[in-house]
Amino acid sequence: MASAPACTVILGTGGTIAGRAAAPREALRYAAAQIGVAELVAAVPALAGVELEAEQVAQVDSKDMGPPVWTALVQAVVRHLARAEVSGLVVTHGTDTLEETALLLHRLLAPAKPVVLTAAMRPATSLQADGPANLCDAVTVARTPGARGVVAVMAGTVFRPEGLRKHHTWKLDAFAAGDEGALGQVVDGQLRQHRAWPDARPLGAHLLPPAGAPWPRVEIVTSHAGADGRLVDLLCADGVDGIVLAGTGNGTLSQGLEQAEQRAQQAGVAVWRASRCAAGGIVGLEPGGLASAGSAAALSPAQARVALTLTLLEQRARVP
Ligand code: ASP
Repeated sequence: MASAPACTVILGTGGTIAGRAAAPREALRYAAAQIGVAELVAAVPALAGVELEAEQVAQVDSKDMGPPVWTALVQAVVRHLARAEVSGLVVTHGTDTLEETALLLHRLLAPAKPVVLTAAMRPATSLQADGPANLCDAVTVARTPGARGVVAVMAGTVFRPEGLRKHHTWKLDAFAAGDEGALGQVVDGQLRQHRAWPDARPLGAHLLPPAGAPWPRVEIVTSHAGADGRLVDLLCADGVDGIVLAGTGNGTLSQGLEQAEQRAQQAGVAVWRASRCAAGGIVGLEPGGLASAGSAAALSPAQARVALTLTLLEQRARVP
C-alpha cells in the first residue's frame, strides 16, 4: 500500500522573518530579507526530524512585493503542489503585503493541499523573535490531516485569506481576520479548528501574464476630507486600467471623488469601492450607486486591488 505523502516544502520569499538587526534588542530597526530559508528552518529545533524541503523563491522586503516575485512564487507553488510526495507547502513572507499574496494564491489556485503563509514581526536576530514559533505553527497546520487551501498563520492564529488584514504596525499579534473570524488557533502544537478551510473556484495560474509581461495597472485612491477627485482624473489621463476607491465608512465618497469616479467609468476604467475602515467591509447599497462597488465586499483596499487585477486579467483572457 502506498504511504501517505509526507513532505512539506517551505518556500522562502524574504520578510522580517528572514531579517537581521545590529543587536538582539533591536526589534524595529533591522534589514528584512537577509537570511536564507534553509537557515531559518535549520534554526528551529522542533522541526528536526520533520520531512521538509526548503527552496528560496525570492529574498525581498514584502513592501516591494509585485508581479515578478508573484509570478515566480505561483510557479513554484504549482510545481510543488503537483508532486505526489508533497502534502503541503509553507511560504515565508513579509507581513506588509502578506494579505495580498494570500488572496492572490487563494483566488488563482484554491489548492486541494494546504499552502500556509507565515511571517514575523521581529527579525530572526531579535530576543523577541516570533519567526521560529510561527514557522513551527505553519508546518503544524500544513501537516494537519484534511488541511486544504491558502491560509496564514501568525501569533498562534490561523487566518483564511479573504478579509485578512495587517492591522497593527509593530505588535507581534499584527493580523485581524475580519468579521468572519479566524479559522482556528494552534495550541500546544495542535490545530484547534473553528471554521472551514477556504474554498473558491480557482481561476488558474495560466491567467497570469508571462514573466516580464505587464499586468493591468490598478491604483488605490483614498477618500478623505477635502478629496476633490483630481487624482482620479490624473490616473485616467495616465492610462490606468483600474482604480480601487477606498471610501469612507460604508464605502462613501466625497462629492468630488464621486463625480471623478463616474467620469472614470465613462472613460472605460474599471472602478471598485472598498472601505478605508479597518473592518466591516461594505454592506448593502452604497449611496453613490456605482455598479461594481459590491465586488470588493469585505476586502481591504489592498486586497480589493488584487481582486480587481485578477478580474481585469480574466477579461483580457476572454478577448481573442
Ligand atoms: N517590511 C517587512 C516585510 O513586509 C515587514 C515584516 O515582514 O514584518 O517584509
